[in-house]
Amino acid sequence: MTTDTTQTPETAASKQATREEAALCARARALGFSCCGISAPRLEEMAQARLHAFVAEGQHGTMAWFARRLEERLDPKKLWSEARSAIVLGIDCTPEGDARKAWQRRLADKGLAHVATYALGEDYHEVVKKRLKTFARWLCIEYDTQAKVFVDTAPLSEKSLAAQAGVGWIGKNTQLVSRTHGCWLLLGVVLTARMFQPTSPSYVPPLARSSSPPSSPPSPLPSPREVGRCGSCRRCLEVCPTKAFPRPYALDARRCLSYLTIEHRGVIPREFRVAVGNRVFGCDDCLAVCPWNKFARAAQELEKDLEKEIEKEIEEEIEEATQEEVGKAEEDSMAVVLRSRADLGTGRIAAWLRLEDGEFRRLFRKTVVKRLGIARFRRNLLVAAGNSEDATLLPLAEELLADEDGVVRASALWAVWRLGGRARVRELAAEYLDGEEDETVREEWAWCCERDFLAPQEKATC
Ligand code: SF4
Ligand code: SF4
Repeated sequence: MTTDTTQTPETAASKQATREEAALCARARALGFSCCGISAPRLEEMAQARLHAFVAEGQHGTMAWFARRLEERLDPKKLWSEARSAIVLGIDCTPEGDARKAWQRRLADKGLAHVATYALGEDYHEVVKKRLKTFARWLCIEYDTQAKVFVDTAPLSEKSLAAQAGVGWIGKNTQLVSRTHGCWLLLGVVLTARMFQPTSPSYVPPLARSSSPPSSPPSPLPSPREVGRCGSCRRCLEVCPTKAFPRPYALDARRCLSYLTIEHRGVIPREFRVAVGNRVFGCDDCLAVCPWNKFARAAQELEKDLEKEIEKEIEEEIEEATQEEVGKAEEDSMAVVLRSRADLGTGRIAAWLRLEDGEFRRLFRKTVVKRLGIARFRRNLLVAAGNSEDATLLPLAEELLADEDGVVRASALWAVWRLGGRARVRELAAEYLDGEEDETVREEWAWCCERDFLAPQEKATC
């Protein structure tokens, strides 16, 4: 055995740290994660300032929970005082083929119920969490430590930690953008009680192609810092249908269609209803136009070979497992990660407006859309119906004037007004208005009874 006497304690520590990074990333890759980075469990000043401004300017809208737990979001150690490192893992959900063309086609089809791309598969919270737990179990055994996993379920700023870990940078659209995966990344975080050397923002080791750590450290990528790569591009800011970016790197959630169609619980404010178009769950626009997505598609091609290699490794592991473990390993296998539901990408407004609660739950089982509940789902469909210019949807909207939920009734009325005009609203008022006790719905009746169809140039703001 020989000893390297030329090695200083600093370089030995540095090599050890790099080996650990490589080992963590290799394990992440073996579990189907596309990227991995390590950050200290605290937010840098810039990230803190952004979150403070978001709340101070009231841009979180009705997400009171965001403001209430801001302190924890600013300091992950307030979530778990033992935390000494944050390991950020991402799964690439870049759609196959030309995502931008598909996005444009789906928005142009007014009878289609447009669901945001990330929601077209199994509920990513479940998929990512399952993987994170497997990763955390391995981590705890391998490094004799403790760990906790987070996937958009606790007040933790996954995006900021990912940027600090060098996984990408925060783009002008306020989303994490990766040089190799574009904007379509689903993130999860493992907080661990053991300290790992943070990956520098200028260098994240390439994910190793084997589940065992390489014998020598990978050579650093000759890349500049993973920040400020938006340059002069403004595509995301310009495409936003509701002008939800008051300035680059800042989002006013109150104007964002993702927030309005998912988080917001009341009626969608009138000024944004036309802009909703046919979006019934979320909005892809400021992600779909990002030029960095094209590198994600290139990465996908490269990854196909790698996936085969990993599937082979998993198959070998499965063969060695007990019968009970077989079931679990199969459940965890790569195929689960990005399984998409083609039927969710082709749903029609007419068909989904007919769904009863039980049918809605069955159709959207194991997806994030199910979290909306039938009332908010109908609200969104009715706004989309109002924008469809398809008079055959009028009877369906009229049926929902009697819905038990006031938000649905108000949204149905707006759809009736858009599809059938003021005259039809006035005819129906005699039947429904007297018994209406909900102030919001009564206001909607008053508004729709008073206004005639607007000229096209006025429609944009109604
Ligand atoms: S998700 Fe849509 S509405 Fe929200 S900021 Fe992006 S483009 Fe604008
Ligand atoms: S669209 Fe342009 S400005 Fe927006 S995040 Fe992507 S690169 Fe940055």
